[in-house]
Amino acid sequence: MTPAISRPPPAGLADTMTIICNYCGNNAEMVSGDAIYPHRPDLYHRKFYRCQPCGAYVGCHEGTDKPLGRLANAELQGQTTSP
Ligand SMILES: [Zn+2]
Repeated sequence: MTPAISRPPPAGLADTMTIICNYCGNNAEMVSGDAIYPHRPDLYHRKFYRCQPCGAYVGCHEGTDKPLGRLANAELQGQTTSP
């Protein structure tokens, strides 16, 4: 169950979040889109969290540091539709 408090945090105040990889427990680093999708210049302005050791990553909501969900490794990425 989620707590009753559902007020979203004010935009623009978010520091870089700590994202822990659920595969290997590493602290994921924030990278820009060109590190993930070198062939997609339209995604270069997007932010991603990437786990270096295992290559899992997750995109962020546009214009924010908030991840869209959990980190996904290459195996999972293959099952999702690309952006
Ligand atoms: Zn990892």
